Amino acid sequence: MTATVIVMTTSAHLPSGAPSEGAISADASVTDRLVDANGQYAAAFADPGMDARPVLQVAVVACMDARLDLHAALGLELGDCHTIRNAGGVVTDDVIRSLTVSQRALGTRSVVLIHHSNCGLEGLTEDFRTDLEMEVGQRPTWAVEGFRNVDQDVRQSIQKVRTSPFLLHTDDVRGFVFDVKTGLLREIEPA
Ligand SMILES: [Zn+2]
Repeated sequence: MTATVIVMTTSAHLPSGAPSEGAISADASVTDRLVDANGQYAAAFADPGMDARPVLQVAVVACMDARLDLHAALGLELGDCHTIRNAGGVVTDDVIRSLTVSQRALGTRSVVLIHHSNCGLEGLTEDFRTDLEMEVGQRPTWAVEGFRNVDQDVRQSIQKVRTSPFLLHTDDVRGFVFDVKTGLLREIEPA
């Protein structure tokens, strides 16, 4: 089976200068820009006829950080993997839910965890929740999951995945820190 590589020739990225001729109006919202870009994407799109099961049987759990282009950084192509992202790339109950579906319903076997340097969660504490409670009058049920040491946070995430009773495959779980300045991954040894 050959995978069709979709080359992204359109971008919803705002030009740095004035809008060019033919661009959508300057007062368009960012979502309008995304929808416009999608029209161009779909016009060039050919159904690759892929199965929902990831070709490489891998799920990648990563931070939502805008500087982390998972597909480019890991040499992944469309259809290769599941990507599960949240603030910090933290292994929450909901990430375990996604991994469980990924493994039990869609055939993945490996898990790759990616945190990164200069993360927005670094240094954030549970005071964040207290401040929220003061502001809105309700304490969030979720933990902020802030951390001081990114390596230790990756180790904890590896451990959470490896010890989950819901997962079928916990023998190939590896964790990394992505350096946003060099683009390099640094592997973290488990605890
Ligand atoms: Zn981050």
